[in-house]
Amino acid sequence: SKRGRLDRFLSSHLNMKRKDVRLFLAQKRVSVDGVIALNIDLSVDEFSHIVLDNDRVLQANKPVYIMMHKPIGVVSATKDDKHRTVIDLLDRPDKATLHIVGRLDLNTSGLLLLTNDGRWSRQLTSPENKVTKSYKVTLKNSLREEYIKAFAQGMYFSYEDITTEPAVLEIVSEYVAHVDLTEGRYHQIKRMFGRFRNPVLQLHRMSIGNLSLDSALLPGENRNLTPHELECIY
Ligand code: URA
Repeated sequence: SKRGRLDRFLSSHLNMKRKDVRLFLAQKRVSVDGVIALNIDLSVDEFSHIVLDNDRVLQANKPVYIMMHKPIGVVSATKDDKHRTVIDLLDRPDKATLHIVGRLDLNTSGLLLLTNDGRWSRQLTSPENKVTKSYKVTLKNSLREEYIKAFAQGMYFSYEDITTEPAVLEIVSEYVAHVDLTEGRYHQIKRMFGRFRNPVLQLHRMSIGNLSLDSALLPGENRNLTPHELECIY
């Protein structure tokens, strides 16, 4: 993320030469996260609390982690010309600083995470980490046992020239399945059922990693993650 050296932060923030920054530090005028900083090469990031002369706060960004029940018809983007965005649904002054962790299609509902912490969102979305996303899928036609093997084996997508990671499909009832993915290709679930000419009527994300959508959240509502939830999903 935006990790860097303290002297760089101070010289750009205060528009000072590095030499003068060094003097500031030697005079014990700068604190980072409540501790007097003496080293120019101390590593700081966008959430470090950096104070000059006890009362001049140079940076005080707090990390924000939000879960939203994304409704159908709202776009997972920060700006859009045609549709309302998930950011428009937020009622908080810092909403412009937030970004989306793993998008959902316009007509998909369910768990969506928002944050201002780029390192956290990168961890959750980086392909190597294979974080499981679980979906409830409602289909037009009856499910068949043969789907299970096809999902587990992976499907070749010629457009991207990739084979999908093993996915777990559980048949819940005639038209309802649960699907676990460890990646997020474009329209992936719809395309996978498309192989069987079985259109997806409804798609809802239930969980990401160990974190489930709070059933008390109505479509469009959001809340901060609890400290316990943050631990679960890190
Ligand atoms: N698969 C899809 O097709 N759409 C989504 O929004 C998520 C997974």
